[in-house]
Amino acid sequence: MSVFNATPGTMPANTTFRPPSVAQVEVAGFWGARVDAVASRTADILYDRCVEARMLEQIDPDVPSPGVVIPFHSMSPTGNEFTGATVTTQMFWDSDWGKTIETAAYSLYRRRNDELERKIDAVIDLFGKLQQEDGYLSSWYQRIQPGLRWTNLRDCHELYCAGHLIEGAVAYFQATGKRKLLDIMCRFADHIGEMFGAEAGKRKGYCGHEEIELALVKLGRVTGQRKYLELARYFVDQRGQQPHYFDEEARARGADPKDYHFKTYEYNQSHKPVREQDKVVGHAVRAMYLYAGMADIAAEFADDSLRTALERLWNDLTSKNLYVTGGLGPSAANEGFTSDYDLPNETAYAETCASVALVFWASRMLGVGPNRRYADVMEQALYNGSISGLSLDGSRFFYENPLESRGRHNRWKWHRCPCCPPNIGRMVASIGTYIYGLGERAVAVHLYGDSSIRFEVEGREVVLTQGSRYPWDGAVSIKFDMDRPLRFKLHLRVPGWCPRAQLTVNGEGVDVEDALADGYVTLDREWEGTDVIRLDLDMPARRIYANPRVRQDAGRVALARGPIVYCVEEVDNPEPLHSLVLPSATSIEAVEAPDLLGGVVTLSGQAVADRSSDWGDTLYRSARPVREQTMVRAVPYFAWDNRQPGEMRVWLRDEP
Ligand SMILES: [Zn+2]
Repeated sequence: MSVFNATPGTMPANTTFRPPSVAQVEVAGFWGARVDAVASRTADILYDRCVEARMLEQIDPDVPSPGVVIPFHSMSPTGNEFTGATVTTQMFWDSDWGKTIETAAYSLYRRRNDELERKIDAVIDLFGKLQQEDGYLSSWYQRIQPGLRWTNLRDCHELYCAGHLIEGAVAYFQATGKRKLLDIMCRFADHIGEMFGAEAGKRKGYCGHEEIELALVKLGRVTGQRKYLELARYFVDQRGQQPHYFDEEARARGADPKDYHFKTYEYNQSHKPVREQDKVVGHAVRAMYLYAGMADIAAEFADDSLRTALERLWNDLTSKNLYVTGGLGPSAANEGFTSDYDLPNETAYAETCASVALVFWASRMLGVGPNRRYADVMEQALYNGSISGLSLDGSRFFYENPLESRGRHNRWKWHRCPCCPPNIGRMVASIGTYIYGLGERAVAVHLYGDSSIRFEVEGREVVLTQGSRYPWDGAVSIKFDMDRPLRFKLHLRVPGWCPRAQLTVNGEGVDVEDALADGYVTLDREWEGTDVIRLDLDMPARRIYANPRVRQDAGRVALARGPIVYCVEEVDNPEPLHSLVLPSATSIEAVEAPDLLGGVVTLSGQAVADRSSDWGDTLYRSARPVREQTMVRAVPYFAWDNRQPGEMRVWLRDEP
């Protein structure tokens, strides 16, 4: 815990806005409690569960290999035999270590944890011991299936694992100043660069599960080495080109390219070159990681052709394929997208990782400058479909995030495919990097909440402090601490959900409507330490209706207030929840509930419910159910299933 600022990259940045480092931002209030849960519980739990799953044995060259602990997803025709076409989640274990290291790294900023740091150091030592002379590093291909490396990029996550270890290495270096894992991963990245690329003799491949692209950009930025950015760009550019690498690779290992579990390369977004893609397709997490990597490359290389494709994809996602919770990927079959406007509630897959990855993508779309189009969706995914994946105390997890449950969908301790727990852990623990954006003489406030950021203008330090009870209250105050007046731009987001915003600087009103561009107000002036900015965002409870093309939400209404989407739970309401009807005339009241679910605002109002008690054994009858008056109480969706198990639904029956 010595070095707070990473060695800044020496590369010129084409990006106009970059996220601050985790160390530059301190959070309190809503996010402070979430970060504390991760730093004080989740980070240790992730390590412990990895050990319990026998991941430590897999990376330790001095102990016998644990062998295959998790059965293969698909067997060879002859039985329980590994072939190049079979897959087990055990192949991804290096990625779980990578994300666990990353979560631990960010958590160390919040809370010293010498014991965890020692354990992570020991894990890093094992990876160091495991690494081959030529730089190659994969616990699966070295310990369980030697001889098969680089034979199945389509299915086996080899470069994906490298990517997550790179991200872990960058974060751990930034948090602790320790270079060991960073050096290990630079050697591996160099080896990957020798194996893959446009040059003659190199493989023309890329990973079936995107991740290495955005990881190499992080590595390039932290080391100042442009070659890592070039390699990331190669992987992005090569994806979906003909002849198709995954076809050729399958033939090379004696397999029929058509013998592919997921049938189409839309599954891994390699069905066509990325610049020609215009629909979000396939596995949702893969898609989001790819687009995040593309956004990085678009920014680093000022590549407008990538940017154009990304805007099309963004539009497709947000106008046809996104849950109101910021969840995405409705289908369990492909862990991803199906068809436009297909957003089932009870069977929604909406993997925690997918919402987390949408936050990654959205934040990178803000790299060219503040724009509410991206920040609003980042906020939607942050406050709803992503953090729903972590219990309030930081100890239990969701993989799927349905919008409706009959009471059987409950948080678990661990999963045989444990991708989500460390993903939500690392996102929450690095929340400060999403709240602000830093540009040349400019700071953007993308998200509101009790927090402060340190940054420099003309070599002088400025501390910007926000005071706010957001997301429960829309009043925000902003102050600066600096030793002399400094000129810079302050960009303040006015969320799309906000019907009325009032802004004053030192008591003087600013015409928000007039000043608004891309959903942000820009204040460009010389700031002083005595300046006080006040922003008041009206935050009424509101009803949300879905596009009538969404058949699953027809005749239904959802409730929201500010960035928070609400749900009703059985513990607070008469069951069954599908009997509840919310008349449009009902006024919805926001009620502070400081002792509920860690302190939330609930929404309540008069509703009616279909009575079933007078039906006896009758299954069908000609008379409509009798309606009775009742109250409905809704709680934030992210906090559901933190009390006794029971029914839950986001979309209620609506009545004009
Ligand atoms: Zn996941």
